Amino acid sequence: MTDHPFFELESPYRGWYRLHRLSFGSGGPVTTLVAGIHGNECNGTYALNLLAGRLRLQPPRGTVHLVPCVNLFGAEEGRKRWPFDDRDINEVFPGDADGSPVERVAEAVMRASEGQLCVDLQTGSAVVHEVPHVRAPLTGPVLALGQAAGLPVLWRRPAEQFDDGLLGAWRAAGRTALVLRGGRGGSLDVDDAKTMARALVRLLAQAGHLHAPEPAPPTIVTEKMLDYRCEVGGFFVPEVRPGEPVVVGQVLGTLRAAIGGETIESFHATAAGVVLAVRVYPVVHGRELVVRVAQSTT
Ligand SMILES: [Zn+2]
Repeated sequence: MTDHPFFELESPYRGWYRLHRLSFGSGGPVTTLVAGIHGNECNGTYALNLLAGRLRLQPPRGTVHLVPCVNLFGAEEGRKRWPFDDRDINEVFPGDADGSPVERVAEAVMRASEGQLCVDLQTGSAVVHEVPHVRAPLTGPVLALGQAAGLPVLWRRPAEQFDDGLLGAWRAAGRTALVLRGGRGGSLDVDDAKTMARALVRLLAQAGHLHAPEPAPPTIVTEKMLDYRCEVGGFFVPEVRPGEPVVVGQVLGTLRAAIGGETIESFHATAAGVVLAVRVYPVVHGRELVVRVAQSTT
């Protein structure tokens, strides 16, 4: 393994910013996996560190590059965005080598992203817990790869929803670009990170880097998401967890009065499926998402 500080940026008071890229193996095929574009999203970083442990023991065929944490300064402070100017690195791709610090970081991430297959690791927001899942366009090679990952849910979405951010920049550059999401921002969800690391091993096997691992568990492949939103503000108490199967009529959670606790609204599943996301910070405003269910299509 080589740890190559792929890009450096001088910081006046806190030492250098360094974009680390860990490289395993040599030659082709080449794949790059990136995490921590958002500084407070630690599950992807941990999943890549777990994968690094595996690759140290079992060097891949071809080359695998890991960029475990892009927004190091944000990570230190538990912040999603880049400190100092509060910008979202994911909003400035493909970046600019002569631009502002975040634009230079984004440009360096693009240069570090070698190979045909590029994978971005994300989490839910700091208030929503998501089951580990893949988001993929409705058709094409990314969809087949997404299925090979063997995560609980594969969310098929129209291709134009992948045109922004790092994923959009990779797609514009002709790469096979995939996003895995799981857990929530601002915390380490160990089980979710382990699940994502196992999915990455399957993806690397599918891409020819590793021997085929054990068969993948079943995945719900769907483009149908049922979003449950509260009518008014209150205190949301969930009764389901991310990844849990639900049946029609099952109680997903209740909205209570924030002071006093009277029930304002109950949420019942209107179709069977698997819980994709649950609001975990209870204080909600009207119209906010409280539960998202990936609807079974069979
Ligand atoms: Zn993110």
